[in-house]
Amino acid sequence: MNYKISKRAASLAPSLTLAIDSKAKQMKAEGMDVVGFGAGEPDFDTPQHIKDAAIKALNDGFTKYTPSSGIPELRQAIADKFKRENGLTYKPGQIIVSCGGKHSCYNVILATCEEGDEVIIPSPYWLSYPEMVKLAGATPVIVATTDRSEFKITPEQLRAAITPRTRLFILNSPSNPTGTVYSPAEIKTLGDICVEKGVLIMSDEIYEHLLYDGAEHKSVASLSQAHYDHTIVVHGFAKAWSMTGWRLGFLAAPEPIARAIDAVQSHSTSNPTSFAQKGAVAALTGPQDHLKGWLVDYARRRTRAWQMLSAMPGVTCVNSKGAFYLFPNISGTGLKSSEFCARLLEQEKVAAVPGIAFGADDYLRISYATSLANIEKGLDRMDKFVRGLKK
Ligand SMILES: *Cc1c(COP(=O)(O)O)cnc(C)c1O
Repeated sequence: MNYKISKRAASLAPSLTLAIDSKAKQMKAEGMDVVGFGAGEPDFDTPQHIKDAAIKALNDGFTKYTPSSGIPELRQAIADKFKRENGLTYKPGQIIVSCGGKHSCYNVILATCEEGDEVIIPSPYWLSYPEMVKLAGATPVIVATTDRSEFKITPEQLRAAITPRTRLFILNSPSNPTGTVYSPAEIKTLGDICVEKGVLIMSDEIYEHLLYDGAEHKSVASLSQAHYDHTIVVHGFAKAWSMTGWRLGFLAAPEPIARAIDAVQSHSTSNPTSFAQKGAVAALTGPQDHLKGWLVDYARRRTRAWQMLSAMPGVTCVNSKGAFYLFPNISGTGLKSSEFCARLLEQEKVAAVPGIAFGADDYLRISYATSLANIEKGLDRMDKFVRGLKK
């Protein structure tokens, strides 16, 4: 059979992070002692009170369709969160609950972009953004940054990339894969340019709560009415509440955009899982104490991983300020990222994600959402690998 695959689907690259992760898992299943730095998810369990709320919802028979964009109670809890933590005022109707932060991003891009539109994405980028833009028929415009600017797009770069076709600018701070956090002043400068040029901003703030060294998160939407009018904030429960498998994300948008996304979602996935939404209400309205302990652990792991990476010959590493990733530069080893990662996995049984997946071939992504013992074991092995190359 000669199956016809649509141009849209055929243009996509499969997710390399998921591919590395499954190769590492397969090697583990075969009994190999693999250390994984590939995970894009917390290694902590979902807090018990959140699970209890979902279990109760199930037992209470809360197992049917809900409104497509989420239950009113959850949309209200999300609006309250934006008010309390970000100083942002949204009506529940401006909030859409989706099947993950990834789904929220896709909804935004699908509802705002089409053929002929350009979307500015700074690299290194979260690998799904360009593929989502292509699925919408629009064109990703990649603006490369390096460790010399801490992986931050400069105002000059943003201005130079904007054309009359620019529809959307994707901002992700704290960043996956680099851990970069833009300062409030930097956020304002980039936001001002978008407002001046009439470009919408999709601000992916899913790592908002994971900050180190006194870094501060500022939502671009909160800077002024004009910034608010130009911004769609994307968020989710995966990272700060460790709910990756629950598939729950949310977004807040100006009303016409929220209405369009509501229509898209109502004809594609419909509502996110009913009882998971009850768990999410507990996540937002219940105690947040878990986060303090997690942040202490992440900070300790980050410091150790950064020290070990920085001591490797041919490797340099900017210390990140947020999320749970480091993005070391390996150009001094003479290898590009795919070969580096393939050989590292083969020879030393250490899984890291090649930077090329994020548009940056001289780097690797190391996730420190794993125990200190794993970090020390895995980075010792990587140190040995790198020293072996030098001979
Ligand atoms: C993890 C992540 C998301 C959302 O993930 P979901 O599991 O779909 O909620 C969104 N953006 C970035 C940058 C992420 O790393």
